[in-house]
Amino acid sequence: LQQLQGRSVVNSISLKEGEEEFLRQARLCRRYGAAVVVMAFDEEGQADTVERRVQVLTRAHRLLTERAGFRNEDVILDPNIFAIATGIEEHADYANAYFEATRRLKALLPGARISGGVSNVSFAFRGNDRVREAIHAVFLYHAIRAGMDMAIVNAGALPQYDDIDPELLERVEDVVLNRRPDATERLLEIAPRYAGGAAQERTGDDLAWRSLPVGERLTHALVEGIDQFIVEDTEEARLAAARPLDVIEGPLMAGMDIVGDRFGSGRMFLPQVVKSARVMKKAVAHLVPYLEAERDGTGRRAGTIVMATVKGDVHDIGKNIVGVVLGCNDYEVVDLGVMVPAARILETARDLSADLIGVSGLITPSLDEMVHLASTMEREGMSTPLLIGGATTSRVHTAVKIAPAYSGPVVHVADASRAVGVAGSLLDRSGREGYAAGVRAEYEVVRAEREARTDRERRLSLADARANRSVVDWPATPPVPSFLGVRAFTHYPLAELVERIDWTPFFATWELRGAYPAILSDPRVGPTATDLFRDAQSLLARIVDEDLLEARAVVGFWPANATPDDDIVLFADESRTVEVGRIHELRQQMAKPDARPNVSVADWVGPAGVPDHVGLFAVTAGHGLGPLVAGFEAEHDDYSAILAKALADRLAEAFAERLHERVRRELWGFAPGETLSNDDLIRERYQGIRPAPGYPATPDHLAKRVIFDLLGAESAAGIQLTESMAMLPAASVSGLYLWHPDAHYFGIGRIGRDQLEDYARRAGLAVDEAARWLSPNLAEDALRSTA
Ligand code: SAH
Repeated sequence: LQQLQGRSVVNSISLKEGEEEFLRQARLCRRYGAAVVVMAFDEEGQADTVERRVQVLTRAHRLLTERAGFRNEDVILDPNIFAIATGIEEHADYANAYFEATRRLKALLPGARISGGVSNVSFAFRGNDRVREAIHAVFLYHAIRAGMDMAIVNAGALPQYDDIDPELLERVEDVVLNRRPDATERLLEIAPRYAGGAAQERTGDDLAWRSLPVGERLTHALVEGIDQFIVEDTEEARLAAARPLDVIEGPLMAGMDIVGDRFGSGRMFLPQVVKSARVMKKAVAHLVPYLEAERDGTGRRAGTIVMATVKGDVHDIGKNIVGVVLGCNDYEVVDLGVMVPAARILETARDLSADLIGVSGLITPSLDEMVHLASTMEREGMSTPLLIGGATTSRVHTAVKIAPAYSGPVVHVADASRAVGVAGSLLDRSGREGYAAGVRAEYEVVRAEREARTDRERRLSLADARANRSVVDWPATPPVPSFLGVRAFTHYPLAELVERIDWTPFFATWELRGAYPAILSDPRVGPTATDLFRDAQSLLARIVDEDLLEARAVVGFWPANATPDDDIVLFADESRTVEVGRIHELRQQMAKPDARPNVSVADWVGPAGVPDHVGLFAVTAGHGLGPLVAGFEAEHDDYSAILAKALADRLAEAFAERLHERVRRELWGFAPGETLSNDDLIRERYQGIRPAPGYPATPDHLAKRVIFDLLGAESAAGIQLTESMAMLPAASVSGLYLWHPDAHYFGIGRIGRDQLEDYARRAGLAVDEAARWLSPNLAEDALRSTA
């Protein structure tokens, strides 16, 4: 635990040897910041009945939270997964006991997590992997519904619930749910047929489905996301139907229902859903002229949602994905685009009598804008539910900051796959009050946990943290850049950037988790990832061949020194007498367990007396994206529109990588002989760093103002900064270059009130205003420690 980076989970501790030993181990884990898995095991042995499982784990939970200082969410309970279908009668109900214990524990101990080691359950079928895997899939399916949060499974050998052969599924389900006394025998009876290895057939690309009746063809095309024949099939269905609307309400909605269902339960993935939506849109677009006659024939029934990226923010890939997903679940989605002021969002919502409002944001200052929106809704007496999403948002921030500002429902939507469920629950006539009350109660718990937490973290005073800075050796003459001032690049060759792309985040955008290239052969998401990757490659080739995007950049170098209070001061020339810009860095304040320093990026810029330099950069790959996306949207092709945006983001990051490489090798030239592979670059194996404002080591978004002014980035590269310091085009990256070999990426963590005040003083801002530019986690405790 002392050596591990990040936070760990200890698996596992239990009351097996009594309370004293349990608490000793728990406190050690706690001291090193680890969460723990607790087994349902006590002095009397393993808990096997529902009652014992619940009793042992609630006791362990109480000890952990009341006597060992654990937070609720750092306690993971394992209510014991035991083998079923062993032939021993007492074992037959073990899976049910796990499900029931899970349900009760989730109700008794809100916030605590439930885990389990799944492969145990199928131990009786050792040697027959196909049956074992089916049992695991079925067990997981029911366990998750009961409230299981995490599990240990071989994710590489897990069939989709829907892909399990129906006969096998039925018999496995009989065993897992203990539905009939002869369940085990009946499974044993057919098990030999499945012996001989796991087999996951994927439906081939054959066209047999083309001979189905037209309604079924439409449904099939939707579920599979095939748009090749959609217009001709829709036309054929229209001619056969009494009203054009019947085509939508019949086969098309049937297809979308299946898609919605499979996605909602994790059996289909995001890129597939977006492709299905494309098929739907094309079909509907074909029908629209015929629908005109029937006024309300838009086929939209579930509700109207007004969506927007808030004022000052520009990123919208995630919001667009949510919009598409809601759209294909029968919602009317009114997307106001990016940088939308609160007043416009609310006006539109009122004009349309919207059922829901959804707002999104990528960067920290947008959180304040969301709080502002919520309080405006409160002031205006609205009651429309407010959905919160986007990279910078979190359940905790929503609970602590946004929800208290508005008495209507406020719900954080973690990703697109949750959006439909949340929207449905908020609009369901009979269930919505209960749902909203549930969320309110959950957020109450989050707030209480936050409240209780403050003082458990040990922090140094700012003065002590500065005294514990990292000690850096400075050569008499640090490497001198090949030029001072700025250099701009326009029409940078895209082909040179393609090879520098880091593909892993591309898949994450589509909610496919896993590292590239392994993700392409992942048994679960591999086929989806491969299809997506193929589509991405062909669009990327088009972008490069037809020069559809323009990459621009500006780089500059200045004589610079760090001050004792962590500012980086940039000078006009080597005389270092005229200051042209100043960036305020922050410093880690957490108490370190050993002699490690409390670092700041400012440690790696030479102090006064050292003739050091820093570089600044801004790059974009977003010019030209607007028309490209508009073209796709005109063809009802959201899939390609989102793909294009995601690729522009990738090219911008690749450009940052490529330019940084050239800075090290030639423009600054401190590593002329460097030869690193793309993989080495992604792993940051190069000398020096390029910290970006708003990221963990340099959380101050205001630094972008200084960087942009010095670079003249607005005119040189055509990148604007919004009032919230978002870069426009969205596919842009900016930051600093530091050359020192000690420099590395890190996170500032939380800071104290003293540092927040010091930062505000240096930036010439009021303390509250200063906090707005820093990440919420970082500043929040600092703001609260006023009391
Ligand atoms: N290879 C990834 C990099 C994403 S991080 C990709 O292609 O998406 C985005 C940028 O943030 C990096 O290019 C780098 O400039 C900066 N960065 C990374 N880690 C950082 C940290 N801990 N603090 C400050 N900036 C960081």
